[in-house]
Amino acid sequence: MGSGELYDVVILGSGPAGCTAAIYAARAGLRTLVIGGVAPGGQLMKTTIVENFPGFSEGIRGPDLMMEMMEQAKRFGAEILHEDATGVDFASRPFKIFVRNVEYRALSVIVATGAYPRPLGLESEQRLMGRGVSTCATCDAPLYRGAKNLVVVGGGDSAAEYALFCAKVAEHVTLIHRRDRLRASKILQDRLLSEPKITIIWNSVVEDIIGEDRVRGVLVRNLLSGELIKVECDAVFIAIGHKPMTEIFRGWLELDEEGYVITRDLVKTSVEGVFAAGEVMDKRYRQAITSAGFGCIAALEAIRYVESIKGR
Ligand SMILES: Cc1cc2nc3c(=O)[nH]c(=O)nc-3n(C[C@H](O)[C@H](O)[C@H](O)COP(=O)(O)OP(=O)(O)OC[C@H]3O[C@@H](n4cnc5c(N)ncnc54)[C@H](O)[C@@H]3O)c2cc1C
Repeated sequence: MGSGELYDVVILGSGPAGCTAAIYAARAGLRTLVIGGVAPGGQLMKTTIVENFPGFSEGIRGPDLMMEMMEQAKRFGAEILHEDATGVDFASRPFKIFVRNVEYRALSVIVATGAYPRPLGLESEQRLMGRGVSTCATCDAPLYRGAKNLVVVGGGDSAAEYALFCAKVAEHVTLIHRRDRLRASKILQDRLLSEPKITIIWNSVVEDIIGEDRVRGVLVRNLLSGELIKVECDAVFIAIGHKPMTEIFRGWLELDEEGYVITRDLVKTSVEGVFAAGEVMDKRYRQAITSAGFGCIAALEAIRYVESIKGR
């Protein structure tokens, strides 16, 4: 792997989407490079147990699952670089991908750089991540079945969906929102407001998360009165938005107003030969298995595309 080298496919990102794409592409005989990011493995590296990825009846630790996926890709010959891509040139053919001043060339590219869940920015949030703090209620709320109280932070569709999901597994849910009204769609708001298990604390922010080895509560400040209260809970789900990791593609690929890659036929981007997979293009499902599924589809499309240009 060196400057100017030509690959059949370069995959950007090594989360479930990127790794699955690498397994399929390398196994099909494509010369495959994964520029996997300085934080290889993606979001599942931040979680403890994953219970809903098929094939593991007892669940599997997120980091173990991702290490297995990377090893599986390597076994078929994929090369993995633990660096961030710093730029691309999708106007030239072959495409160019830059890692600082090193250039890689590719007949096709799969963008799988994910979307980063926005944090609250608290020290306690980082310390207790995976130990009661989570950015994915669909993934982690079932781990707290029977809990007395679960806290959800946010006011958009994700927060509303998380709160409703948490209400299915816990005795009570507290939704904390910084404004006096929700941004969530009308239908979700109606469901939320009519769910007796959910209490909303308006005009308030989480100032700290309490707990040494696991979450025991949150400190909540009312933005109007300044009053500080403690809310006991077993887990905190943060749903204040995601930031798609697409800065380096701006100007090269069509992005939507939030910065997600726009695709057609599931994984095709605005540039022929460049495909996108996982949370970088899917803001609806946000699961490891769906991201892996998109990675598989992107690889199958890339294989077909590379074969078509080699056969020309
Ligand atoms: C706390 C938590 C718990 C979760 N639990 C579950 C669960 O139990 N079950 C489940 O199905 N899902 C779970 N999820 C969701 C799941 O992790 C995501 O849906 C999935 O990881 C998305 O995969 P992805 O490959 O699209 O992106 P990501 O996993 O976000 O991977 C993106 C990768 O791209 C890399 N990258 C970014 N920018 C660049 C760049 N410029 N160059 C190169 N690489 C770059 C990043 O470093 C990262 O490695 C959880 C998420 C979180 C945060």
